[in-house]
Amino acid sequence: MLVVQKYGGTSVGSVERIRGVAKRVAETRAAGHQVAVVVSAMSGETNRLLALAKEVAAQPDERESDVLVSTGEQVTVALLAMALKDMGYPAFSLLGHQVHIETDSAYGRARIKTIKTDRLLSGLRQGHIVVIAGFQGVDEDDNITTLGRGGSDTTAVAIAAALKADACEIYTDVDGVYSADPRICPQARKLQRISHDEMLELASLGAKVLQIRSVEFAKRYQVPVHVRSSFSSDEGTWLVQEEPSMEEVTVSGVTSDLDQTKITLLHVPDQPGLAARVFGSIASENIVVDMIIQNASADGFTDMTFTVPKGDASKAVARMKAVMAEIGAQGVNFDPDVAKVSIVGLGMRSHAGVAARMFQLLAHEGINIQMISTSEIKISVVVAAKYTELAVRVLHDAFIPGAK
Ligand code: ADP
Ligand code: ASP
Ligand code: MG
Repeated sequence: MLVVQKYGGTSVGSVERIRGVAKRVAETRAAGHQVAVVVSAMSGETNRLLALAKEVAAQPDERESDVLVSTGEQVTVALLAMALKDMGYPAFSLLGHQVHIETDSAYGRARIKTIKTDRLLSGLRQGHIVVIAGFQGVDEDDNITTLGRGGSDTTAVAIAAALKADACEIYTDVDGVYSADPRICPQARKLQRISHDEMLELASLGAKVLQIRSVEFAKRYQVPVHVRSSFSSDEGTWLVQEEPSMEEVTVSGVTSDLDQTKITLLHVPDQPGLAARVFGSIASENIVVDMIIQNASADGFTDMTFTVPKGDASKAVARMKAVMAEIGAQGVNFDPDVAKVSIVGLGMRSHAGVAARMFQLLAHEGINIQMISTSEIKISVVVAAKYTELAVRVLHDAFIPGAK
């Protein structure tokens, strides 16, 4: 078998843990498998590097920021390869550009375009353990790029797809994908299997256990992904194709996302083309708008409310202040103290009344719903941030079978 294993920040967070990882990798190799390993930076390191950049410059240059943050993974690949060699296992490390993981040039959120497999395959054929830096790549002009927070997951699944690996094991600090973040909801249950579409929703709605793009790769290239703990040998969670029985469960998971700011443009003239002006101006800053609502028009005026990631809020508000004058709106409000709480499940397609029940449960706790958005398999609401944990727990207890 050819196995790709990925170890996250906590799993390589200290020298002892790196030795522990080396032991686990060595066991897999000793069992006769070919092993490629992808590692993250030591826990806290990426944040430390980003903070350093902020000390040097108010708006750190994006190209140099990627040169800087990619060093976190350079440390761990070297240490892991060293530890393996010290144990007598042939191993070598490769950075993103050495493998040639080619990405586009969107610094800080680059997308993988192609991966060269020659060097990986020849190493594996010779019996070496190949240790690859997660999170980083190189664009067509040889600039270093990074794939966005949590990007090592995507490196691992993309490498597994390119190598046509038999399995991609994502080792992390929880023992699988849970019905809610186990740190927020102690009642959360480990899921044995989850469909790609549900996992895509969970990842995009705040469950950071897998980066969303890694799930896209897993789905597109049918990579068997197994999320599990680096501290135990228990079976974790498998990402799988959808099966008919999965629709029997209405809700598989509950998530929350605090990385949202709500912006309202007040008293906007209700005329064709204005929404295009407003959101065109946000898009020109490369800001991704999430939820949008426009109130029913009264006297020819309306309010427009939308959410953006917290880090983009000040840019978006500045844009809105400029647009406000142009289109004759009356003001701009913003509120960073909000959270998006969501329920996700394939079963919502076939069960009626799920939204009504969700709203009743929140109302019962006195939680006001500020915005709502739905898709076929999810319902999200924006609420005051202080209610995040309460909302997650209440929804989890009510919707997840056997949670109570
Ligand atoms: P790593 O460093 O291994 O990549 P991350 O911190 O990126 O680990 O992701 C694992 C974390 O994701 C867990 O510690 C957990 O708190 C969080 N998490 C959020 N939602 C979920 C969920 N539904 N299931 C499991 N973990 C979750
Ligand atoms: N080190 C990077 C981060 O902290 C990538 C990863 O851990 O997946 O986001
Ligand atoms: Mg992660």
